[in-house]
Amino acid sequence: MAEKIQAVKGMNDLLPPESAAWEWFDEQVRRVMRAHGYQFVRTPIVEPTALFVRGLGEVTDIVEKEMYSFEDSMNGDKLTLRPEGTAGVVRAITEHNFLYEGGRRLWYAGPMFRHERPQKGRYRQFHQVGVEVLGFPGPDVDVEIILLLRALWRALGLSVGEGCDVRLEINSLGEPSERQAHRAALIAHFEQHADLLDADAKRRLHSNPLRILDTKNPAMQGVVESAPKLIDFLGEASLAHFAQLKAALDAAGLPYRVNPRLVRGMDYYNLTVFEWVTERLGAQGTVCGGGRYDGLVEQLGGKPTPGVGFGIGVERVMLLLAEAGALPAAPVPDAYAIVPDAAALPRVLATLDALRSEGVSVLLHPLGKEGAASMKSQFKKADASGARFALIFGADELANDRVGVKPLRAGEGAAQSTQPLDGVAAWAGLLRG
Ligand code: ATP
Ligand code: MG
Repeated sequence: MAEKIQAVKGMNDLLPPESAAWEWFDEQVRRVMRAHGYQFVRTPIVEPTALFVRGLGEVTDIVEKEMYSFEDSMNGDKLTLRPEGTAGVVRAITEHNFLYEGGRRLWYAGPMFRHERPQKGRYRQFHQVGVEVLGFPGPDVDVEIILLLRALWRALGLSVGEGCDVRLEINSLGEPSERQAHRAALIAHFEQHADLLDADAKRRLHSNPLRILDTKNPAMQGVVESAPKLIDFLGEASLAHFAQLKAALDAAGLPYRVNPRLVRGMDYYNLTVFEWVTERLGAQGTVCGGGRYDGLVEQLGGKPTPGVGFGIGVERVMLLLAEAGALPAAPVPDAYAIVPDAAALPRVLATLDALRSEGVSVLLHPLGKEGAASMKSQFKKADASGARFALIFGADELANDRVGVKPLRAGEGAAQSTQPLDGVAAWAGLLRG
């Protein structure tokens, strides 16, 4: 036997029955996006490496060590499998002059790639659903996307708030000049306590001291706690933006925690940043992260355009849904067609076609090369399929131009009956779930 080939580590297949839950998730996402007037976009999975280096910042976890970058052996182009969705969307709207008519509300979904150590809730290929809202500077839009997320969590059957399945954390990163002043104060603070810094922090001290605040090293918690807080460096306009955000969340009855240490992993954020977190998944507890990025479009060569968006980690949401017992039962077919003899197939197929176009989902028993199978074995399969009805295309029924309809589940209500093969529209409703 030939040797089996295995998938790349950290990159997962999606198979039934889990795939049904993902389809259901996609439907909820689509409904919520439509209700909020967001338009769907799809950008390539591969982009020029420079897009992420310039967009995300050179001294970020992603660009430093997580990107799948390679040279196109055909022409030497430097390419990267996208690690996140925002840079590609911003490139696309800039490339297509997509903002000349004003702002845009966009959403996307698809795989992202990061070379991380695979573990529960952390993979090398994972999936995000995200939105990018471009052209609107106000905190009203920040609130809009946060409330859109609350609507999505609710549609998924998750509870929202303190002590619930998910809760919201927010912070403000201010404007670049304010961050500059804070950064200088941070460097001074960490230099004063240089003996308490780990190697990672020392390396970042002069390149990206803000990221030191994000450390997961318990030994550094003290020196991080006592560091100067960015909020104390914010000017009037930034504080007003943050105050309006908080007031609108209060008005919407959405509880949140202000987390001054929430800084996010990409350089492009300013003003509002937020995360939705869960206590149910251990270390990988952030299911969604987002914020405002008013400088990014210009940084990527477009006209200055404010932006705000988020990315949801779909695998983590699916884990959370399973943990919270919020996954719906997998869908079952309405009916299973039992066909004792292949000679009946032309009439069976025509009938099933007609039923399907009436919105009934039907599975046909596969007869195989023999062209026949016992009723008993077919009924067994019908039961196993989960179908609520069996359609019996037996010789007696067909002789009368009819099909037998047998409920397979107790409590299905309808009694066993036979129905005419012509005019299925009149009785299709009996079968539809
Ligand atoms: P983390 O701190 O967990 O590494 P992050 O800040 O790197 O997250 P973002 O870049 O903000 O993550 O991506 C948005 C969301 O995508 C995260 O909140 C998370 O739910 C999900 N995510 C990020 N990286 C992974 C991964 N390697 N595997 C699965 N989901 C991921
Ligand atoms: Mg990360």
